[in-house]
Amino acid sequence: MSDRNQDLFERAKRVIPGGVNSPVRAFKAVGGTPRFVQRAQGAYFWDANGKQYIDYIGSWGPMILGHGHPAVLEAVQTAAREGFSFGAPTEREVELAEAILEHLPSMDMVRLVSSGTEAGMSAIRVARGATGRNKIVKFEGCYHGHADALLVKAGSGLATFGTATSAGVPPEVVQHTLVLEYNNVQQLEEAFALHGADIACLIIEPIAGNMNFVRASVPFMQRCRELCTRHGSVLVLDEVMTGFRVALGSAQSLYAQAIPGFEPDMTVLGKVIGGGMPLAAFGGKRALMENLAPLGGVYQAGTLSGNPVATACGLATLREISRPGFYEELGRKTKALVNGLQAAATQAGVAFSTDSQGGMFGFFLMPDLPQNYSTVMRTDSARFNTLFHGLLERGVYIAPALYEAGFVSAAHTDADIAASVQAAAECFRLLSN
Ligand SMILES: *Cc1c(COP(=O)(O)O)cnc(C)c1O
Repeated sequence: MSDRNQDLFERAKRVIPGGVNSPVRAFKAVGGTPRFVQRAQGAYFWDANGKQYIDYIGSWGPMILGHGHPAVLEAVQTAAREGFSFGAPTEREVELAEAILEHLPSMDMVRLVSSGTEAGMSAIRVARGATGRNKIVKFEGCYHGHADALLVKAGSGLATFGTATSAGVPPEVVQHTLVLEYNNVQQLEEAFALHGADIACLIIEPIAGNMNFVRASVPFMQRCRELCTRHGSVLVLDEVMTGFRVALGSAQSLYAQAIPGFEPDMTVLGKVIGGGMPLAAFGGKRALMENLAPLGGVYQAGTLSGNPVATACGLATLREISRPGFYEELGRKTKALVNGLQAAATQAGVAFSTDSQGGMFGFFLMPDLPQNYSTVMRTDSARFNTLFHGLLERGVYIAPALYEAGFVSAAHTDADIAASVQAAAECFRLLSN
């Protein structure tokens, strides 16, 4: 039987580097042939062979309502008929900005852009422009997009800055980036003691979804806040993944419940706020955001920023997820999934740990939840790959890499969850042999 996924992959590789437009799609970590998606509806998509999958990637986060939600589809179709792009302001941009700010009280102002990479890069430029400082702090295992200064791993000590993780990034560009261990309070304190007066900002994923699912501990997040305040550095929460995914108020609302008065100075958003269209945003305190051109001296711009079709998609998505009870129901289903997976793994004698918040989840083939990147790295990738391909064969599509979070949408039914747990139970039996 001919495999259309394989045929398309061969064809793609001739004209697109690696056959993909974003590296993880190539299945390089897990091996095998990437599935070319033909169409999607609700919680499912169909590949080029017509095989159906329960989708736990949801475009890596944006599809919180599932695919093809009628209200979103209607909004996008109406907007498209009115025009694709104008290069002039529209009412919908104002509406979307207002809708975002309504749910994130830490933000006074927001600017819309087209990707999370662009948003993170721009937030850092604002922080540097506002403070007149150069240095930035990030954490190992956190992803903030592929801007040059962020493609960096830890140097040999706190006095030395990072090393580029990508070819094509000059050492001079990462020399101001300090990379620290996630959840390590002592290292954080030492870094600020050494460099505090030069640190423009600290950027962090509050729940790190780019090392599967690792929460910043409450004491760690509290210390990030205190040290930034004390040293006049800008605290930037990268909520591109967690924003409107883990709660309507995003991850910052969860930390605000645990830490009195907690709020970031700036927030980076993407994924859910675009509902699947290229749309992202960064925002925060008025005094910081007023540094942006045309008001201030920090330049930032975009031909397609605030695109009318993308903002229509984002607005319709935000309207649906703001309905009372939305996150309770989403969280209940996600919990049912991870609890089912945990029970099946335990029954098969497979070491397993899992966590979830709202519609985002992660799991590890190890007995305890890791707290930082080096522990996540100890996961046995061969076992993960067996699980991944076992699930894929059974029509359950999870991220093709063990360092990635998973996502449940409002379209997933209890029956979808049960079928996924059943498929996983069969795969765990393969692992326990
Ligand atoms: C996805 C992601 C980004 C990058 O967003 P793109 O739209 O892919 O550029 C940045 N930060 C976090 C936390 C992300 O999950």
